[in-house]
Amino acid sequence: MTGNRSGAKRARGTSLATALGSQPYDLIVVGAGINGCGITRDAAKRGLTTLLVDMHDIGAETTAWSTRLIHGGLRYLEHGEVGLVRESLHERATLLRIAPHLVRPLRFLLPVYSRHRRGPLTIRAGMLAYDLLAATARIRPHRILSRTQAVAMEPGLDARELRAAAMYFDAQVTFPERLALENALDAAGHSATIATHTQVEAVQARGSEPTILTLRDMLDRSTHMVSGRVIVNATGPWLDSLLGGNALSPMIGGTRGSHIVVDRFPGAPRSAVYAEARRDGRPFFVIPWNGRYLVGTTDSRYAGDPASVSATSDEVRYLLEQTNCLFPSSGLQEDDVQFTYAGVRPLPASTSGSEAAITRRHIIRRHDPPHERLLSVVGGKLTTYRKLAEQVTDRVVQLLDIDAAACTTDNDPLPGARSNVVTMTDRSQPPSIAAPLRAIYGSGTPDVLGYRADGDTGTLEAQTRYALRHEFAETVADVLLRRTMRGLQADLGIGALDAVVQAAAAERNWDSERQESERAAYLAYIRRFAVPGTEPSHGTAGDAMYE
Ligand SMILES: Cc1cc2nc3c(=O)[nH]c(=O)nc-3n(C[C@H](O)[C@H](O)[C@H](O)COP(=O)(O)OP(=O)(O)OC[C@H]3O[C@@H](n4cnc5c(N)ncnc54)[C@H](O)[C@@H]3O)c2cc1C
Repeated sequence: MTGNRSGAKRARGTSLATALGSQPYDLIVVGAGINGCGITRDAAKRGLTTLLVDMHDIGAETTAWSTRLIHGGLRYLEHGEVGLVRESLHERATLLRIAPHLVRPLRFLLPVYSRHRRGPLTIRAGMLAYDLLAATARIRPHRILSRTQAVAMEPGLDARELRAAAMYFDAQVTFPERLALENALDAAGHSATIATHTQVEAVQARGSEPTILTLRDMLDRSTHMVSGRVIVNATGPWLDSLLGGNALSPMIGGTRGSHIVVDRFPGAPRSAVYAEARRDGRPFFVIPWNGRYLVGTTDSRYAGDPASVSATSDEVRYLLEQTNCLFPSSGLQEDDVQFTYAGVRPLPASTSGSEAAITRRHIIRRHDPPHERLLSVVGGKLTTYRKLAEQVTDRVVQLLDIDAAACTTDNDPLPGARSNVVTMTDRSQPPSIAAPLRAIYGSGTPDVLGYRADGDTGTLEAQTRYALRHEFAETVADVLLRRTMRGLQADLGIGALDAVVQAAAAERNWDSERQESERAAYLAYIRRFAVPGTEPSHGTAGDAMYE
């Protein structure tokens, strides 16, 4: 049994009011992205009574719209961010250790063309620095490949003007949604309360007295008051809006980043490729991901509502064009795009300089009276969430002026890594069923399979029931997009929709009206993934379900 199943305090099932329990909390974390989930895990493990609230779902926003890399950030070296790269590489090693089922090494090729500003010597110097900064790396060092070696390795790569390539390793988190979830599950295993689909509508600061938050249950529209001695604003791109009129100067200056997802194409690489775009020299990635390819990203200032950001036609055309330049036999066209997604980088506000030059380092900001019990988390990366959480929790403990246990999150495995996931097998199940599930649940796989009604049908039903009972899922979109991960297949989960609605209806006693509204809400939600000007593809899921 995974740690999350024992002692998990779930906000739903009964009413939100009942689940909120005794107050004030030592800490209320607003925002269940990777940062909020990481902070909640750390605080709960140190013994703080902690509540995590999110107006949507766990890992449903920026965390889900990332390029899904756990990386040092080679290009940050050029901006002189040596400390950030060192910290990121250290965290990469930590995540490979505490979440090996979710974070895996990924081989990259960085081609060097004669038109590029940086020649092989510069690239070599950068790669040497990257290896040196990794110091404790659990990952192999780089190699510089000749033109011939590079083409032999990736025959689809454009060989014209190719001078050399660097081969190096970073890491990938196929499903950051689940990385965030496992942090929340571990937090709940240490008595944290998790309230998803719960929006903070107002923040009433009272100096050194506990702050009162007004919560809106987004599912039944009821309101509730809750108080906390310290509040952490981990709302990513919503950071300024949480404070409403109380915000000082704007803290966030977001930039939009978009991706496209395509099937394997002629000449597709076996490694991830990190290249300079032919059109404007911007860095972009072509990455094997989840049985297909993720291509991205773009970087342009964005001031709209983060909830409604989506890829534009220009961005889709740009990413296709750059991929076609890099892999001349690919012939990719708009029709080949299975889906798109976009997010807003919650970067520190900055009005000058290029988007790429804005620091990716996070800032922890304590507000002035009467909000002195409020900390805001500005910026950050998926890669460094654990360290950020440790630093925020240290500040919270300081503000509470208590003796708390030391941080252990760098050593303690996440729930799905609590036994050897490589040798662990549920022997009663064929490997074709258990293996793809391990990439999602790790050592929790037998628990999920335990919900199967009989030996050969019903895996999706079992996953759905498990998600609703043990993983804080509340809606069909939660189940498809952020628990079972079926929503990230080529058909965006449409093929699984009926089965999930039925299983959820049986589990939660949903009447036909609720079933219909869940189905409609899901179909409306996934429009954001469509290539601009089209409807989401109703194609088949393809054979490569999970990588
Ligand atoms: C295009 C792109 C690519 C990226 N690629 C990478 C990468 O490859 N590697 C990497 O390390 N980093 C990457 N990042 C950065 C990384 O994704 C983000 O830094 C990280 O996900 C931010 O997480 P967060 O928890 O701060 O924010 P979010 O994940 O956005 O979470 C904030 C949460 O707050 C909730 N919320 C907001 N307002 C309220 C309210 N009033 N009440 C309750 N809840 C509220 C939202 O619902 C949301 O769930 C990328 C980012 C983008 C946009």
